[in-house]
Amino acid sequence: MRLLLFGAPGVGKGTQAKLLSIKFNIPHISTGDILREAVKNQTELGKKAEEIMNRGDLVPDEVMIGIIRDRLIKSDCQNGFILDGFPRTTKQAIALDKLLDEMNINDLKLINIYADEEEIVKRLNNRRACKECGKIFTLSEIQDKDECPNCHSRTSFYLRDDDKEEVIRKRLEVFRKNTEPVLTYYEKKGKVISVNGFGDIEDVNKKLLNALSK
Ligand SMILES: [Zn+2]
Repeated sequence: MRLLLFGAPGVGKGTQAKLLSIKFNIPHISTGDILREAVKNQTELGKKAEEIMNRGDLVPDEVMIGIIRDRLIKSDCQNGFILDGFPRTTKQAIALDKLLDEMNINDLKLINIYADEEEIVKRLNNRRACKECGKIFTLSEIQDKDECPNCHSRTSFYLRDDDKEEVIRKRLEVFRKNTEPVLTYYEKKGKVISVNGFGDIEDVNKKLLNALSK
């Protein structure tokens, strides 16, 4: 099973990708995670990506395509994968098609998780990350807590730049402008499955599995 998970930033697609990864025993490949890791390690790519992401912009296509190629040729992708955060432009989608063609893969499906934009802004603005372990919590989860439930660091919660309202709105705008054509691209190929992302994690997951079994 080869899946692309598609949806605006903050729609909860990362969480759904992890659940599908466990269910079908295929790797969840999050380009966001790969990039954040590079930023943390301050690699050459990481430094470049950090500057771009802090502006709320997208990392250049050629950088992203290189990262994806390196990842998909690894042996754990033999029986499938879930790509999360890629492709974000039609140019990337065309490059991905070319790569999959070379790999003789033709069963790709795009899962489109959609949600209301104001709901997304509210949801992201209510998140706090732990400076030490990187785990993300909702405000209600850490209410009255001054230590991280995951790593027990004290006063380590902060609002990530990515989750600030101004940056979220910019990212949503970039998303609309650059990535909605990707959806159209795959719709024309008849490869899109759309699921409403509003609701709790389990409900959305059930809807997803149901749609995939059809
Ligand atoms: Zn922590």
